[in-house]
Amino acid sequence: MEETGKVFIKTFGCQMNVYDSEKIMAYLDDRYIEAASEDEADLILLNTCSVRGKAEQKVFSMIGRFKPLKDLNPELIIAVGGCVAQQEGQGILDRSPLVDLVFGTHNIEDLPDLLDERIRKGKRVCRIIEESDKVTSAQAPSRAVVSKPARLVTIMKGCDNFCAYCIVPFVRGREISRPSVEIISEVESLVENGALEITLLGQNVNSYRDPESGDDFIDLLEKVDSIHGLSRLRFVTSHPKDFSVELINAMASLETVCEHIHLPLQAASDRVLGGMKRSYTLNEYRSKVAALRDAIPDVELTSDIIVGFPGEKRSDFDKTMSFLTEIRYQNVFSFRFSPRPGTAASRLEDSVPERVKKGWLPELQHLQSEITAWKHEDLLGSTLEVLVEGTGKKENGMLEGRTRNNFIVHFPGSEDMIGSLTNVKVNRSGKIHLESEVVK
Ligand code: SF4
Repeated sequence: MEETGKVFIKTFGCQMNVYDSEKIMAYLDDRYIEAASEDEADLILLNTCSVRGKAEQKVFSMIGRFKPLKDLNPELIIAVGGCVAQQEGQGILDRSPLVDLVFGTHNIEDLPDLLDERIRKGKRVCRIIEESDKVTSAQAPSRAVVSKPARLVTIMKGCDNFCAYCIVPFVRGREISRPSVEIISEVESLVENGALEITLLGQNVNSYRDPESGDDFIDLLEKVDSIHGLSRLRFVTSHPKDFSVELINAMASLETVCEHIHLPLQAASDRVLGGMKRSYTLNEYRSKVAALRDAIPDVELTSDIIVGFPGEKRSDFDKTMSFLTEIRYQNVFSFRFSPRPGTAASRLEDSVPERVKKGWLPELQHLQSEITAWKHEDLLGSTLEVLVEGTGKKENGMLEGRTRNNFIVHFPGSEDMIGSLTNVKVNRSGKIHLESEVVK
């Protein structure tokens, strides 16, 4: 079909949004090709995240920066989707006259119709449905993403956990699993098109339940693992309360499942965990990690931490600091608590002063970056197998690959290596990635 323009998609937030952006691209595939930058776009689409207040502010300040582009090209369409759109809806059109179109997290399939409405009728449009009982996929891989060797596949959406700080159940809805028949067929099609690695995505993958067959997450892992041509299988996110011995055993025995798990801790004080409504204690978390490391000795863990949750004291924060040293995470994504509208925590007194949160966060990040650097140093001189995923973002002529256990490695090489499994020898350790050379 004829292409009518160029689209620039800016994605904020989590893997789920990265996946949704791929899906958006697939739905626009017969009308738009990807623009290299916003300057050359006919459609600018912001796929937003509302997990943190700061991300929301970033969206509005970014919209403001598009004004000169809109002045130059009044036909330019600015669309806002994702979680901020789901939450604010019409409010975004009211707040920013630059925005033409707003669509919710359950309305991605409507995007071509909404664009028609905007283009043909000249109306500013907003479509938000509260919930949909379908988990859809990008199905046929779009031109824009077909050649990527590592792909995301959504297996469920929404969440029933209602952790006290989290807005996800409000903007993504209740937990709904996708039939495994659809998931398998999407993975098969991606593998046929060159994908070697698949990440199964959901807010809480451990509670996956096939609505047709009743299969659980382990059954699904077994099915995906047996797909011919797939080399690596990952999944995210696992809630610690649902991370079971059975799942650990499946991770250890299934050949494609990678030796890495993202297991969000959030805090290492039972008092704070209780306030967050996380449904596990530190000791329960600790024993699960021990069982995992017994079963898979080279497994690496990453995590999420929130600092400054209402009622958190310095002594609670110190527990988190010493737990980081005890567990030696490969990496941690850490954030200052900010109350999100509608959540249980938004009704609590935000008792930790902002200046205290602002002090704790870099303290924690500094400790974690030392731990990451030690882990990187331990790998100096070793040979690692990496999946070459693309070019290093900042360094020209450098390729970027990832080990099964999630270390990021840069090395010189030619672009025709992208999509292959290659052995590299580590010759420099950095804070974020390792540097290496290809083993001939
Ligand atoms: S498990 Fe908790 S933190 Fe994770 S998406 Fe659900 S409510 Fe949010």
